[in-house]
Amino acid sequence: MRELIMAYQGEMALKGLNRKTFEVAAMKTIRRRLTDLGRFKVYDAQSTIYVEPEDESADMDEAYARMQKVFGIAALSRAAVCGKNFDEICAVAKEYLAETLQGAKTFKVVARRSDKTFPMTSMELACELGAVLLDAFPHLTVDVHHPDCQVFVEIRDYAAYVHPDKVKGAGGMPTSTSGKASVLLSGGIDSPAAAWMMAKRGLTIQGIHFASPPYTSERARQKVVDLAYKLMPWTGPFKLFVVPFTEPQVYIRDHGVPVLFTVLMRRSMMRVAEKLSIRYGADALITGESLAQVASQTLKAIVCTDAAQELPVLRPLIGMDKSEITDIARRIDTYDISIQPFEDCCTIFTPPHPKTRPSLEEILAAEAAMPELAALEETAAAGAEKLHIE
Ligand code: ATP
Ligand code: MG
Repeated sequence: MRELIMAYQGEMALKGLNRKTFEVAAMKTIRRRLTDLGRFKVYDAQSTIYVEPEDESADMDEAYARMQKVFGIAALSRAAVCGKNFDEICAVAKEYLAETLQGAKTFKVVARRSDKTFPMTSMELACELGAVLLDAFPHLTVDVHHPDCQVFVEIRDYAAYVHPDKVKGAGGMPTSTSGKASVLLSGGIDSPAAAWMMAKRGLTIQGIHFASPPYTSERARQKVVDLAYKLMPWTGPFKLFVVPFTEPQVYIRDHGVPVLFTVLMRRSMMRVAEKLSIRYGADALITGESLAQVASQTLKAIVCTDAAQELPVLRPLIGMDKSEITDIARRIDTYDISIQPFEDCCTIFTPPHPKTRPSLEEILAAEAAMPELAALEETAAAGAEKLHIE
């Protein structure tokens, strides 16, 4: 029996003239993600990407799992392919869905017919196939409202396809169709979730992590590398820069205004991130900030952070509660790594009572008293270590 994976396009199916660009990008990502799993033919038709194994040894289970992490795909199914005739469809449905139907008490047939030359209407096909399946699996009953399983039959241009319930895809837009941005990646819960959300909208990402040894440990840095590897099945391979941030940070501690420390430090990070973005062709920064989560994420503090450099800052979590962010972290499996207790550079040297409503004037005045900071930032950016997450 011929089996393949059908990947149903999400939002990209609504694109007009550029639609092909998005489809090609999604297919390119799929081909790349499956290269080590055997030979697959990948093609598209009728708002669906078909992935068909070309040899016996191709690993369909793993291919199906990986494709659930490809952005741009709204839903997927594993389907049996057959000729467009009723008897063949019945035979295939009985064999291909035997296990699923054995395990169910109730079912329903959903028929779709985009090929209108097929002699039965969708309704007739659903009813008659339903009757055949009831005969073959007498323990079943039909439940059109809440069936344990659905049997889909789709009569399309090239063939008929029979499959059980679809699974949810990753959604969003295909990777690389929205440009490139740098995500400021800490070891916390928020920033990996932010990276995932923006990658989902089609951005290619690169990671930037600030480390301040010996105040931050090797374990803290490793945690960020581990998080990056959790993102990779969704984003594809990417670069992660580890910036040696001790000197700017110590300088700010010793020469800055203590109640403004966190905002001064965050502005410094943004400037270094801007340099690395320009150097490597990224057009925006991404952070895991959420309004009012901590003192440095009040609106006044964000105004000051934004004024530090010129690139737009994307903050996909800005309106989310911690519990909503945590749900994403669990979904993408970063949560357990993020809660490991290794100190990040953002939590060292922080004052007990940071100012929650800093003004840009006082921030600029504080920076004017730190004439050597710019050079230290330049050195930090130049000294960034480039890791390949692949
Ligand atoms: P948490 O889940 O603990 O809130 P967080 O990563 O959001 O983790 P915050 O102190 O809230 O930590 O920092 C806000 C944002 O600043 C982060 O989401 C991240 O984008 C960026 N950031 C913080 N620390 C670092 C760091 N060491 N390297 C890179 N980016 C950082
Ligand atoms: Mg946070």
